[in-house]
Amino acid sequence: HVVTRFAPSPTGYLHIGGARTALFNWLYARARGGQFLLRIEDTDRARSTPEATQAILEGLSWLKLDHDGEVISQAARADRHAEVAHAMLASGHAYKCFSTQEEIAAFRDTARAEGKSTLFRSPWRDADPATFPDAPYVVRLKAPCAGETVIDDQVQGKVTFRNTELDDMICLRSDGTPTYMLAVVVDDHDMGVTHVIRGDDHLANAARQTLVYQAMGWPLPIWAHIPLIHGPDGKKLSKRHGALGVDEYQKMGYPVEGMRNYLTRLGWSHGDDEVFTTAQALEWFDLDGIGKSPARFDFKKLENVCGHQMAMTDDAALLHEIEAYLNVTGADRLTPAQTEGLGAALYCLKDRAKTIPQLLEKAHFVLAKRPLEHDPKSSKALDPVSIGILKELTPHLQNASWTRNALEETVAAFAEAGDIKMGKIAQPLRAALSGRAVSPSVFDMMLVIGREETLARLADVTG
Ligand code: GLU
Repeated sequence: HVVTRFAPSPTGYLHIGGARTALFNWLYARARGGQFLLRIEDTDRARSTPEATQAILEGLSWLKLDHDGEVISQAARADRHAEVAHAMLASGHAYKCFSTQEEIAAFRDTARAEGKSTLFRSPWRDADPATFPDAPYVVRLKAPCAGETVIDDQVQGKVTFRNTELDDMICLRSDGTPTYMLAVVVDDHDMGVTHVIRGDDHLANAARQTLVYQAMGWPLPIWAHIPLIHGPDGKKLSKRHGALGVDEYQKMGYPVEGMRNYLTRLGWSHGDDEVFTTAQALEWFDLDGIGKSPARFDFKKLENVCGHQMAMTDDAALLHEIEAYLNVTGADRLTPAQTEGLGAALYCLKDRAKTIPQLLEKAHFVLAKRPLEHDPKSSKALDPVSIGILKELTPHLQNASWTRNALEETVAAFAEAGDIKMGKIAQPLRAALSGRAVSPSVFDMMLVIGREETLARLADVTG
Protein backbone atom coordinates (compact mmCIF):
# COMPACT_ATOMS: atom_id res chain seq x y z
CA HIS A 1 0.00 0.00 0.00
CA VAL A 2 1.71 3.13 -1.25
CA VAL A 3 0.64 6.75 -0.85
CA THR A 4 2.90 9.50 -2.15
CA ARG A 5 2.29 13.20 -2.41
CA PHE A 6 3.53 16.34 -4.04
CA ALA A 7 3.44 19.30 -1.69
CA PRO A 8 4.43 22.49 -3.51
CA SER A 9 4.34 25.94 -1.97
CA PRO A 10 2.31 28.17 -4.30
CA THR A 11 4.74 31.05 -4.37
CA GLY A 12 5.68 30.94 -8.05
CA TYR A 13 5.49 28.79 -11.14
CA LEU A 14 5.95 25.02 -11.12
CA HIS A 15 9.69 24.92 -11.67
CA ILE A 16 11.56 22.09 -13.26
CA GLY A 17 12.78 20.66 -9.94
CA GLY A 18 9.25 20.59 -8.55
CA ALA A 19 7.99 18.92 -11.71
CA ARG A 20 10.64 16.24 -11.34
CA THR A 21 9.69 15.67 -7.69
CA ALA A 22 6.04 15.36 -8.71
CA LEU A 23 6.96 12.95 -11.50
CA PHE A 24 8.98 10.68 -9.19
CA ASN A 25 6.12 10.57 -6.71
CA TRP A 26 3.63 9.91 -9.49
CA LEU A 27 5.73 7.11 -10.99
CA TYR A 28 6.33 5.49 -7.64
CA ALA A 29 2.65 5.46 -6.71
CA ARG A 30 1.24 4.60 -10.14
CA ALA A 31 3.63 1.69 -10.61
CA ARG A 32 2.48 0.18 -7.34
CA GLY A 33 -1.24 0.70 -7.65
CA GLY A 34 -0.92 3.35 -4.96
CA GLN A 35 -2.19 6.87 -4.64
CA PHE A 36 -0.54 10.12 -5.61
CA LEU A 37 -1.90 13.04 -3.61
CA LEU A 38 -1.53 16.76 -4.10
CA ARG A 39 -1.25 19.22 -1.24
CA ILE A 40 -0.80 22.92 -1.73
CA GLU A 41 1.34 24.29 1.10
CA ASP A 42 -0.25 27.68 1.25
CA THR A 43 0.41 28.49 4.90
CA ASP A 44 2.60 31.43 4.00
CA ARG A 45 -0.34 33.71 3.30
CA ALA A 46 1.82 36.64 2.26
CA ARG A 47 3.68 34.74 -0.46
CA SER A 48 1.03 32.27 -1.62
CA THR A 49 -1.13 33.29 -4.55
CA PRO A 50 -4.05 31.64 -6.33
CA GLU A 51 -2.26 32.32 -9.64
CA ALA A 52 0.69 30.24 -8.46
CA THR A 53 -1.64 27.40 -7.47
CA GLN A 54 -3.23 27.64 -10.90
CA ALA A 55 0.17 27.55 -12.59
CA ILE A 56 1.12 24.45 -10.60
CA LEU A 57 -2.12 22.69 -11.53
CA GLU A 58 -1.66 23.60 -15.19
CA GLY A 59 1.95 22.45 -15.18
CA LEU A 60 1.00 19.10 -13.66
CA SER A 61 -1.83 18.71 -16.10
CA TRP A 62 0.43 19.47 -19.06
CA LEU A 63 2.85 16.79 -17.83
CA LYS A 64 -0.08 14.41 -17.36
CA LEU A 65 0.66 13.94 -13.67
CA ASP A 66 -2.85 13.29 -12.46
CA HIS A 67 -3.41 13.15 -8.73
CA ASP A 68 -5.92 11.23 -6.66
CA GLY A 69 -8.65 12.84 -4.61
CA GLU A 70 -9.16 16.49 -3.87
CA VAL A 71 -6.38 19.03 -3.85
CA ILE A 72 -5.61 19.56 -0.16
CA SER A 73 -5.05 23.09 1.07
CA GLN A 74 -2.68 23.14 4.02
CA ALA A 75 -3.97 26.49 5.22
CA ALA A 76 -7.49 25.11 5.44
CA ARG A 77 -6.28 22.56 7.95
CA ALA A 78 -4.92 25.02 10.53
CA ASP A 79 -7.45 23.96 13.18
CA ARG A 80 -6.34 20.37 12.91
CA HIS A 81 -2.69 21.41 13.23
CA ALA A 82 -3.49 23.38 16.37
CA GLU A 83 -5.37 20.38 17.74
CA VAL A 84 -2.24 18.26 17.38
CA ALA A 85 -0.11 20.93 19.04
CA HIS A 86 -2.50 20.91 21.98
CA ALA A 87 -2.41 17.13 22.13
CA MET A 88 1.37 17.34 22.45
CA LEU A 89 0.99 19.94 25.17
CA ALA A 90 -1.39 17.65 27.03
CA SER A 91 0.93 14.67 26.74
CA GLY A 92 3.94 16.68 27.86
CA HIS A 93 5.73 16.47 24.49
CA ALA A 94 5.38 20.19 24.01
CA TYR A 95 5.30 23.20 26.28
CA LYS A 96 4.20 26.80 26.36
CA CYS A 97 7.05 29.22 25.95
CA PHE A 98 6.56 32.83 27.03
CA SER A 99 9.99 34.09 26.04
CA THR A 100 9.82 37.29 24.04
CA GLN A 101 11.79 38.02 20.88
CA GLU A 102 14.00 40.35 22.92
CA GLU A 103 14.74 37.68 25.51
CA ILE A 104 15.64 35.18 22.81
CA ALA A 105 17.92 37.70 21.10
CA ALA A 106 19.57 38.46 24.44
CA PHE A 107 20.06 34.74 25.10
CA ARG A 108 21.81 34.38 21.77
CA ASP A 109 24.03 37.41 22.34
CA THR A 110 25.16 36.06 25.67
CA ALA A 111 25.75 32.57 24.29
CA ARG A 112 27.76 34.02 21.42
CA ALA A 113 29.84 36.17 23.78
CA GLU A 114 30.55 33.13 25.92
CA GLY A 115 31.37 30.99 22.91
CA LYS A 116 28.48 28.61 23.63
CA SER A 117 25.86 27.15 21.31
CA THR A 118 23.33 29.78 20.29
CA LEU A 119 20.59 27.16 20.07
CA PHE A 120 17.81 28.65 22.14
CA ARG A 121 16.94 26.72 25.31
CA SER A 122 13.75 28.09 26.72
CA PRO A 123 13.56 28.68 30.45
CA TRP A 124 9.89 27.64 30.22
CA ARG A 125 10.66 24.10 29.13
CA ASP A 126 10.32 22.65 32.61
CA ALA A 127 8.61 25.56 34.32
CA ASP A 128 5.80 25.08 36.78
CA PRO A 129 2.44 26.04 35.19
CA ALA A 130 1.68 27.97 38.38
CA THR A 131 4.35 30.46 37.31
CA PHE A 132 2.85 31.03 33.82
CA PRO A 133 2.15 34.69 33.11
CA ASP A 134 -1.01 35.87 31.44
CA ALA A 135 0.83 36.63 28.24
CA PRO A 136 1.09 35.37 24.66
CA TYR A 137 3.04 32.15 24.22
CA VAL A 138 4.24 29.86 21.50
CA VAL A 139 3.99 26.07 21.70
CA ARG A 140 7.38 24.45 21.43
CA LEU A 141 8.21 20.82 20.92
CA LYS A 142 10.16 19.31 23.81
CA ALA A 143 13.01 17.93 21.76
CA PRO A 144 15.39 15.42 23.30
CA CYS A 145 18.58 17.18 24.48
CA ALA A 146 20.84 14.17 24.09
CA GLY A 147 21.25 11.28 21.71
CA GLU A 148 20.74 11.20 17.99
CA THR A 149 17.99 11.28 15.44
CA VAL A 150 18.74 9.03 12.50
CA ILE A 151 17.04 9.45 9.15
CA ASP A 152 17.00 6.16 7.32
CA ASP A 153 16.81 7.58 3.85
CA GLN A 154 16.26 5.50 0.71
CA VAL A 155 18.57 7.73 -1.29
CA GLN A 156 21.01 9.22 1.19
CA GLY A 157 21.38 6.19 3.44
CA LYS A 158 21.46 6.63 7.21
CA VAL A 159 21.94 10.27 8.10
CA THR A 160 22.57 11.10 11.74
CA PHE A 161 21.64 14.36 13.44
CA ARG A 162 22.81 15.06 16.97
CA ASN A 163 19.85 16.05 19.08
CA THR A 164 21.94 18.77 20.70
CA GLU A 165 21.73 20.46 17.29
CA LEU A 166 17.94 20.37 17.17
CA ASP A 167 16.17 23.12 19.04
CA ASP A 168 12.73 23.02 20.60
CA MET A 169 11.02 24.08 17.43
CA ILE A 170 7.92 26.18 17.47
CA CYS A 171 4.75 24.30 16.51
CA LEU A 172 2.17 27.01 17.16
CA ARG A 173 2.93 30.70 16.91
CA SER A 174 1.71 33.17 19.48
CA ASP A 175 -1.26 34.01 17.27
CA GLY A 176 -2.24 30.33 17.34
CA THR A 177 -1.25 29.60 13.73
CA PRO A 178 0.70 26.43 13.05
CA THR A 179 4.22 26.45 11.70
CA TYR A 180 5.11 24.77 8.47
CA MET A 181 7.16 22.11 10.26
CA LEU A 182 4.18 20.94 12.29
CA ALA A 183 1.70 21.21 9.43
CA VAL A 184 3.73 18.97 7.10
CA VAL A 185 3.83 16.15 9.62
CA VAL A 186 0.17 16.37 10.57
CA ASP A 187 -0.89 16.49 6.94
CA ASP A 188 1.36 13.65 5.82
CA HIS A 189 0.06 11.55 8.70
CA ASP A 190 -3.60 12.37 8.15
CA MET A 191 -3.30 11.84 4.40
CA GLY A 192 -1.80 8.42 5.04
CA VAL A 193 1.39 9.24 3.19
CA THR A 194 3.71 6.22 3.23
CA HIS A 195 6.59 7.62 1.17
CA VAL A 196 7.95 11.15 1.33
CA ILE A 197 9.94 11.72 -1.86
CA ARG A 198 11.24 15.29 -2.08
CA GLY A 199 14.30 17.46 -2.61
CA ASP A 200 17.24 16.93 -0.29
CA ASP A 201 17.01 20.54 0.83
CA HIS A 202 14.41 19.06 3.21
CA LEU A 203 16.71 16.45 4.72
CA ALA A 204 17.42 18.40 7.90
CA ASN A 205 13.70 19.10 8.20
CA ALA A 206 13.11 15.36 8.21
CA ALA A 207 15.05 15.09 11.45
CA ARG A 208 12.94 17.75 13.14
CA GLN A 209 9.75 16.33 11.67
CA THR A 210 10.71 12.90 13.02
CA LEU A 211 10.50 14.32 16.53
CA VAL A 212 6.87 15.27 15.92
CA TYR A 213 6.06 11.77 14.65
CA GLN A 214 7.69 10.35 17.76
CA ALA A 215 5.90 12.75 20.08
CA MET A 216 2.57 11.71 18.55
CA GLY A 217 3.48 8.02 18.43
CA TRP A 218 2.83 7.98 14.69
CA PRO A 219 4.65 5.65 12.29
CA LEU A 220 7.36 7.33 10.26
CA PRO A 221 7.02 7.52 6.48
CA ILE A 222 9.74 6.12 4.27
CA TRP A 223 12.03 9.00 3.37
CA ALA A 224 13.65 9.54 0.00
CA HIS A 225 15.48 12.84 -0.38
CA ILE A 226 16.51 13.45 -3.98
CA PRO A 227 19.59 15.54 -4.79
CA LEU A 228 18.65 18.86 -6.35
CA ILE A 229 19.12 19.53 -10.03
CA HIS A 230 22.27 21.41 -10.98
CA GLY A 231 23.30 23.29 -14.09
CA PRO A 232 25.62 21.74 -16.67
CA ASP A 233 28.49 23.49 -14.88
CA GLY A 234 27.68 21.61 -11.67
CA LYS A 235 26.49 24.79 -9.96
CA LYS A 236 23.04 25.59 -8.65
CA LEU A 237 20.57 25.62 -11.54
CA SER A 238 20.30 29.13 -12.95
CA LYS A 239 17.62 30.57 -15.23
CA ARG A 240 19.96 30.42 -18.19
CA HIS A 241 20.60 26.77 -17.47
CA GLY A 242 16.99 25.75 -17.28
CA ALA A 243 15.62 26.91 -13.91
CA LEU A 244 12.35 27.88 -15.51
CA GLY A 245 8.71 27.16 -14.98
CA VAL A 246 7.43 24.15 -16.87
CA ASP A 247 5.12 26.49 -18.78
CA GLU A 248 8.27 27.93 -20.37
CA TYR A 249 9.19 24.49 -21.63
CA GLN A 250 5.72 24.09 -23.02
CA LYS A 251 6.07 27.44 -24.78
CA MET A 252 9.45 26.41 -26.16
CA GLY A 253 7.59 23.48 -27.72
CA TYR A 254 9.15 20.51 -25.98
CA PRO A 255 6.80 17.57 -26.42
CA VAL A 256 5.28 16.19 -23.24
CA GLU A 257 6.55 12.64 -23.56
CA GLY A 258 10.05 13.92 -24.20
CA MET A 259 9.84 16.17 -21.18
CA ARG A 260 8.61 13.33 -18.99
CA ASN A 261 11.27 10.97 -20.31
CA TYR A 262 14.03 13.51 -19.73
CA LEU A 263 12.81 14.47 -16.25
CA THR A 264 12.61 10.80 -15.29
CA ARG A 265 16.25 10.39 -16.27
CA LEU A 266 17.23 13.50 -14.35
CA GLY A 267 18.64 11.94 -11.21
CA TRP A 268 17.31 8.45 -11.84
CA SER A 269 18.72 5.79 -14.11
CA HIS A 270 18.01 2.29 -15.31
CA GLY A 271 21.18 0.88 -16.84
CA ASP A 272 22.00 2.71 -20.05
CA ASP A 273 18.39 3.35 -21.01
CA GLU A 274 17.89 6.93 -22.17
CA VAL A 275 14.74 6.78 -24.28
CA PHE A 276 11.78 4.88 -22.91
CA THR A 277 8.03 4.98 -22.76
CA THR A 278 5.96 5.81 -19.70
CA ALA A 279 5.00 2.13 -19.52
CA GLN A 280 8.67 1.21 -19.28
CA ALA A 281 9.33 3.94 -16.73
CA LEU A 282 6.47 2.57 -14.65
CA GLU A 283 7.92 -0.89 -14.87
CA TRP A 284 11.44 0.20 -13.96
CA PHE A 285 11.09 3.13 -11.59
CA ASP A 286 12.38 2.49 -8.12
CA LEU A 287 14.02 4.50 -5.37
CA ASP A 288 17.19 2.40 -5.81
CA GLY A 289 17.83 4.02 -9.17
CA ILE A 290 17.97 7.54 -7.75
CA GLY A 291 21.54 8.83 -7.77
CA LYS A 292 23.27 10.30 -4.75
CA SER A 293 24.87 13.16 -6.59
CA PRO A 294 23.01 16.04 -8.24
CA ALA A 295 21.84 15.51 -11.81
CA ARG A 296 22.95 18.09 -14.35
CA PHE A 297 20.37 19.72 -16.52
CA ASP A 298 21.36 19.59 -20.16
CA PHE A 299 19.28 21.20 -22.92
CA LYS A 300 21.04 19.14 -25.62
CA LYS A 301 20.04 15.88 -23.98
CA LEU A 302 16.54 17.15 -23.43
CA GLU A 303 16.26 17.97 -27.13
CA ASN A 304 17.59 14.60 -28.20
CA VAL A 305 15.19 12.72 -25.97
CA CYS A 306 12.38 14.94 -27.23
CA GLY A 307 13.29 14.12 -30.83
CA HIS A 308 13.07 10.40 -30.15
CA GLN A 309 9.83 10.74 -28.23
CA MET A 310 8.21 12.87 -30.90
CA ALA A 311 8.94 10.20 -33.51
CA MET A 312 7.33 7.63 -31.19
CA THR A 313 4.18 9.66 -30.52
CA ASP A 314 1.13 8.66 -32.52
CA ASP A 315 -0.19 11.23 -34.98
CA ALA A 316 -3.46 12.02 -33.24
CA ALA A 317 -1.75 12.70 -29.92
CA LEU A 318 0.92 14.79 -31.58
CA LEU A 319 -1.62 16.85 -33.49
CA HIS A 320 -3.40 17.49 -30.23
CA GLU A 321 -0.16 18.59 -28.64
CA ILE A 322 0.64 20.92 -31.51
CA GLU A 323 -2.75 22.56 -31.11
CA ALA A 324 -2.13 23.01 -27.37
CA TYR A 325 1.27 24.50 -28.15
CA LEU A 326 -0.22 27.02 -30.60
CA ASN A 327 -2.79 27.88 -27.98
CA VAL A 328 -0.31 28.59 -25.15
CA THR A 329 1.98 30.57 -27.41
CA GLY A 330 -0.92 32.70 -28.59
CA ALA A 331 -0.38 31.71 -32.23
CA ASP A 332 -3.24 31.46 -34.70
CA ARG A 333 -5.31 28.34 -34.50
CA LEU A 334 -5.04 25.91 -37.36
CA THR A 335 -7.77 26.10 -39.95
CA PRO A 336 -9.60 22.83 -40.61
CA ALA A 337 -7.67 22.51 -43.87
CA GLN A 338 -4.36 23.05 -42.11
CA THR A 339 -5.27 20.53 -39.42
CA GLU A 340 -6.09 17.99 -42.08
CA GLY A 341 -2.92 18.70 -44.04
CA LEU A 342 -0.74 18.60 -40.96
CA GLY A 343 -2.34 15.37 -39.84
CA ALA A 344 -1.55 13.83 -43.21
CA ALA A 345 2.02 15.15 -43.13
CA LEU A 346 3.03 14.18 -39.60
CA TYR A 347 4.39 10.82 -40.69
CA CYS A 348 7.16 12.55 -42.62
CA LEU A 349 7.69 15.37 -40.13
CA LYS A 350 7.83 13.84 -36.71
CA ASP A 351 11.12 12.06 -37.01
CA ARG A 352 12.87 15.19 -38.23
CA ALA A 353 12.18 17.57 -35.39
CA LYS A 354 13.08 17.78 -31.72
CA THR A 355 10.60 20.45 -30.76
CA ILE A 356 7.19 21.49 -32.00
CA PRO A 357 8.41 24.78 -33.54
CA GLN A 358 11.05 22.81 -35.46
CA LEU A 359 8.31 20.52 -36.70
CA LEU A 360 6.11 23.45 -37.68
CA GLU A 361 8.96 25.03 -39.59
CA LYS A 362 9.26 21.85 -41.66
CA ALA A 363 5.49 21.76 -41.99
CA HIS A 364 5.50 25.06 -43.83
CA PHE A 365 4.70 23.28 -47.10
CA VAL A 366 1.42 22.03 -45.74
CA LEU A 367 0.44 25.03 -43.60
CA ALA A 368 1.19 27.82 -46.08
CA LYS A 369 -1.21 28.91 -48.78
CA ARG A 370 -0.48 29.62 -52.41
CA PRO A 371 1.21 31.63 -53.63
CA LEU A 372 3.96 30.60 -51.22
CA GLU A 373 6.34 33.16 -49.91
CA HIS A 374 9.87 31.94 -50.37
CA ASP A 375 12.66 32.39 -47.89
CA PRO A 376 15.97 33.69 -49.35
CA LYS A 377 17.46 30.24 -49.86
CA SER A 378 14.33 29.06 -51.59
CA SER A 379 14.32 32.09 -53.91
CA LYS A 380 17.96 31.46 -54.69
CA ALA A 381 17.24 27.86 -55.64
CA LEU A 382 14.75 29.12 -58.21
CA ASP A 383 17.27 30.57 -60.68
CA PRO A 384 16.35 30.72 -64.40
CA VAL A 385 18.04 27.42 -65.27
CA SER A 386 16.20 25.64 -62.43
CA ILE A 387 12.90 27.16 -63.46
CA GLY A 388 13.53 25.83 -66.95
CA ILE A 389 14.03 22.35 -65.52
CA LEU A 390 10.79 22.57 -63.53
CA LYS A 391 8.93 23.71 -66.65
CA GLU A 392 10.10 20.65 -68.51
CA LEU A 393 9.32 18.35 -65.60
CA THR A 394 5.75 19.60 -65.21
CA PRO A 395 4.07 17.63 -68.05
CA HIS A 396 5.69 14.41 -66.79
CA LEU A 397 4.12 14.96 -63.39
CA GLN A 398 0.81 15.79 -65.02
CA ASN A 399 0.72 12.30 -66.47
CA ALA A 400 2.29 10.30 -63.63
CA SER A 401 0.21 8.16 -61.34
CA TRP A 402 0.30 9.63 -57.89
CA THR A 403 2.10 6.97 -55.90
CA ARG A 404 5.54 7.15 -54.37
CA ASN A 405 6.99 4.56 -56.74
CA ALA A 406 5.52 6.15 -59.83
CA LEU A 407 6.66 9.63 -58.79
CA GLU A 408 10.16 8.45 -57.99
CA GLU A 409 10.39 6.65 -61.32
CA THR A 410 9.03 9.62 -63.23
CA VAL A 411 11.57 12.03 -61.78
CA ALA A 412 14.42 9.51 -62.16
CA ALA A 413 13.51 8.88 -65.80
CA PHE A 414 13.32 12.63 -66.45
CA ALA A 415 16.75 13.12 -64.87
CA GLU A 416 18.29 10.34 -66.89
CA ALA A 417 16.74 11.46 -70.20
CA GLY A 418 18.00 15.03 -69.70
CA ASP A 419 21.27 13.93 -68.09
CA ILE A 420 20.45 16.14 -65.14
CA LYS A 421 21.75 15.39 -61.65
CA MET A 422 18.97 14.53 -59.14
CA GLY A 423 19.99 17.42 -56.90
CA LYS A 424 19.49 19.89 -59.71
CA ILE A 425 15.86 18.79 -59.88
CA ALA A 426 15.15 18.11 -56.22
CA GLN A 427 16.38 21.46 -54.87
CA PRO A 428 14.22 23.70 -57.09
CA LEU A 429 11.33 21.27 -56.77
CA ARG A 430 11.64 21.49 -53.00
CA ALA A 431 11.71 25.28 -53.22
CA ALA A 432 8.66 25.36 -55.49
CA LEU A 433 6.66 23.06 -53.23
CA SER A 434 7.69 24.39 -49.83
CA GLY A 435 9.14 27.88 -50.20
CA ARG A 436 11.98 26.60 -48.02
CA ALA A 437 15.40 25.05 -48.51
CA VAL A 438 14.72 22.47 -45.79
CA SER A 439 11.64 20.27 -45.86
CA PRO A 440 10.59 16.64 -45.97
CA SER A 441 11.45 14.79 -49.18
CA VAL A 442 9.90 16.14 -52.38
CA PHE A 443 8.05 12.86 -52.86
CA ASP A 444 6.50 13.03 -49.41
CA MET A 445 5.44 16.59 -50.10
CA MET A 446 3.88 15.73 -53.43
CA LEU A 447 1.99 12.83 -51.90
CA VAL A 448 0.72 14.95 -49.02
CA ILE A 449 -0.44 17.96 -51.02
CA GLY A 450 -1.64 15.97 -54.04
CA ARG A 451 -1.36 16.39 -57.78
CA GLU A 452 -3.48 19.48 -58.25
CA GLU A 453 -1.71 21.52 -55.58
CA THR A 454 1.71 20.30 -56.77
CA LEU A 455 1.02 21.44 -60.32
CA ALA A 456 -0.39 24.75 -59.12
CA ARG A 457 2.71 25.47 -57.05
CA LEU A 458 4.93 24.59 -60.00
CA ALA A 459 2.92 26.94 -62.18
CA ASP A 460 3.30 29.68 -59.55
CA VAL A 461 7.09 29.63 -59.93
CA THR A 462 7.41 28.75 -63.63
CA GLY A 463 5.01 31.53 -64.57
N1 GLU B 1 6.37 22.85 0.35
C1 GLU B 1 7.71 22.33 0.30
C2 GLU B 1 8.43 22.92 -0.89
O1 GLU B 1 7.78 23.39 -1.82
C3 GLU B 1 7.77 20.83 0.19
C4 GLU B 1 7.62 20.17 1.51
C5 GLU B 1 7.68 18.68 1.44
O2 GLU B 1 7.71 18.10 0.36
O3 GLU B 1 7.66 18.09 2.52
O4 GLU B 1 9.64 22.92 -0.91
